[in-house]
Amino acid sequence: MQSTSASRRAVYTGMFDPVHLGHIDIITRAARIFDEVIVGVGINPEKLPWFSTEERVDMLKQVLRGLRNVEVQPFEGLAVRFVRQVGASIMIRGLRTVSDMEYEFTMSLTNQTMDPEIETVFLLARVEYQHLSSTLIRQIAAFGGDLKKFLPAELVPLLQAKVREQPRAVALAAAAASRE
Ligand code: ADP
Repeated sequence: MQSTSASRRAVYTGMFDPVHLGHIDIITRAARIFDEVIVGVGINPEKLPWFSTEERVDMLKQVLRGLRNVEVQPFEGLAVRFVRQVGASIMIRGLRTVSDMEYEFTMSLTNQTMDPEIETVFLLARVEYQHLSSTLIRQIAAFGGDLKKFLPAELVPLLQAKVREQPRAVALAAAAASRE
């Protein structure tokens, strides 16, 4: 049976504040499974990301430039709507831990209710990236830690510059880390 182009186009959404090796691994693996992968960079007025939408889109484009079938786009509002807008019907999510599972399960059931034709495909995080999150990376950056094991080397100076430019955001990240 021949599948339609829409069924082979998949969407991976997130805040990517910043993008890290765990995200890149999921996108790389998805790009091998699907003909096209659209990475949707979330604009959420309720969240105050370290990096602007444009910066997050640029960072993703920079680190994904070697993947010919991957495109990066900003989006606002419901992810299911974005999936439709780009003519796809598959959402990719990465799964790290059991706690991710609970959240992702709820989200995918909600998305299924909103649009039953959209399927969510889960890819398991590789063991070496399971502990990674953008929150953790921001906290390590705030404390001046070594970031090279967590994100591509070319992004490290951007994080360090952000730490210098935004002392207040950095202080908040550090305070949150010390409460955990
Ligand atoms: P983060 O948690 O790093 O801020 P997002 O919340 O933007 O990232 O999540 C975007 C997608 O990436 C979600 O499907 C999430 O489960 C997945 N993801 C996040 N971190 C990892 C990781 N270390 N390995 C695999 N997938 C991940």
